Amino acid sequence: MKKLICETCTMELAGVDESKLCLPVTGDMFLPLSESHPQPFLQNLEWKYMKCPMCGYRPIEQEERVLTDKGFIEVGKKPVRKAIKKKAKPVSRVRMEIEKGKSNAARLNV
Ligand SMILES: [Zn+2]
Repeated sequence: MKKLICETCTMELAGVDESKLCLPVTGDMFLPLSESHPQPFLQNLEWKYMKCPMCGYRPIEQEERVLTDKGFIEVGKKPVRKAIKKKAKPVSRVRMEIEKGKSNAARLNV
């Protein structure tokens, strides 16, 4: 698991749940560093209201990227849940057109 690093003071603050990471960045995308740590941020807290417990500044300076111990993760470039849904649409639309065509043809034959 990659760890969220505060961009101001470089402290390790939380684990990063990369499977959840997308825009807008919220608290539920981060996990406690270990079982003895509390949840790092409120679940629905937006990144701009997050505060580093060590320095009191915002640990994430730009929403599009999150600093981890393995370097920056580009959040904007990760597939967003909405984009996946959009991709599936044209297929079902084509299918609907075919179904419509079939029923129209059936009507014309009658
Ligand atoms: Zn800090």
